[in-house]
Amino acid sequence: MVSALIPDMSLDVAASAPWDAMVIGAGTSGCTAAAQLVRNGFRTLLVDGAVFPRPKVCGGCLAPAGVRGLRESGLGAALERTEPLKVDRLDVSVGGCSATLPIPAYHVIDRRHLDHNLVHEVVRSGGAYMGGTRAVIQEDDAVVLAVDGEERVVRPKVLVVADGLQGTALSRRDDFAWVVKRRGYVGMGATVDRIDLPCRPGRVTMYSSASGYLGAAPISSGGWILAAAVSPELIRRIGKADAIAGILESNGVDSSLLGRIKWRGVSQLTRHRRKAAGGRILVIGDAMHYLEPFTGEGMSWGIHCAQHLVPFARSVADGGSVGTRWRKSCIRRLSRRRLTCRLVGAATRHPAVLKTALRAGRNRHVGAWLARRLCWRDS
Ligand SMILES: Cc1cc2nc3c(=O)[nH]c(=O)nc-3n(C[C@H](O)[C@H](O)[C@H](O)COP(=O)(O)OP(=O)(O)OC[C@H]3O[C@@H](n4cnc5c(N)ncnc54)[C@H](O)[C@@H]3O)c2cc1C
Repeated sequence: MVSALIPDMSLDVAASAPWDAMVIGAGTSGCTAAAQLVRNGFRTLLVDGAVFPRPKVCGGCLAPAGVRGLRESGLGAALERTEPLKVDRLDVSVGGCSATLPIPAYHVIDRRHLDHNLVHEVVRSGGAYMGGTRAVIQEDDAVVLAVDGEERVVRPKVLVVADGLQGTALSRRDDFAWVVKRRGYVGMGATVDRIDLPCRPGRVTMYSSASGYLGAAPISSGGWILAAAVSPELIRRIGKADAIAGILESNGVDSSLLGRIKWRGVSQLTRHRRKAAGGRILVIGDAMHYLEPFTGEGMSWGIHCAQHLVPFARSVADGGSVGTRWRKSCIRRLSRRRLTCRLVGAATRHPAVLKTALRAGRNRHVGAWLARRLCWRDS
């Protein structure tokens, strides 16, 4: 379910108000950051270039740590309004070898609805919001807000950049340039009303191959979310649809069952920024760093870091410098999960390794152990 229309603010009102903080990007990271700032007394403006509800390429599987993070940030009601479907089984298949792993309850949500409801909750708790508003940070940390060809300059005390992998807020700032992993996979996603693949309800299904993987997760509307990470070289050679078909065929699944899908794409996934803080700027979520999504926890990483943002924001608002402390703090909190993600990402490139793990995972105890490692339960 989607909340009623989100109250918006005019460009003139936004430009004349004395903001303590501006959050650029209203995805899961930005909304959690905004909720935390509002709770801690920051006059906060949340802006997003898109008009909500908007689509987002994402598998939609929110790990238990992310669920807890949203609840602890006062965003639990928004999550519940999205009517998440809980799944507790992961069917993984590689080269026709498959195993079912018992996972802790993931909440599967449609990002169109979750993000819209999160923004609504931020506004309800006292934050201000502007949709359809592109923000670009200048060399001197001033922000140019643009709506329908009109522009205004604002100078909040703190700028939280949560504009994701394809954001443009830092496009004028070479000091925050991306470092992109060569040979990293690109992301693809779609939401469909029905699916004819052999996917079972109440479970997430993953098909893996040496050149990418495809996941399918059921949502409460009765539809399915499809998400994939695929080698860009393969897509260049044979196109998106055939690349996905290849993943299915290598698992003995008739790819024609997938039907015609309109895939949305995102650029190369594994990347990080040269720096994550400087001047008034704190970067968060995918906008700071991202790894491939096999373990389904990108949302939870951003939510978790946002929960620890306020002391850093306070320091910036008071005119202090956080230097490299902000990035180090995030990396320290996520180091074990990022390592798991890297190892799983590497294993997917070597089907023989993944097959051995899956065969072992058929044993109940080994399967439970693997699932514990694979999924992020704890904050
Ligand atoms: C194929 C795939 C599958 C995935 N599956 C999962 C999964 O199952 N579970 C999971 O937890 N994670 C998954 N992820 C990762 C997850 O989608 C991201 O980690 C998460 O969306 C990051 O949220 P965010 O708030 O940082 O950025 P985003 O959700 O990308 O939000 C960024 C927002 O910034 C806005 N924006 C951009 N530029 C500007 C600007 N200049 N001014 C104003 N607004 C701007 C955009 O409109 C957007 O709304 C997956 C990712 C991919 C690619």
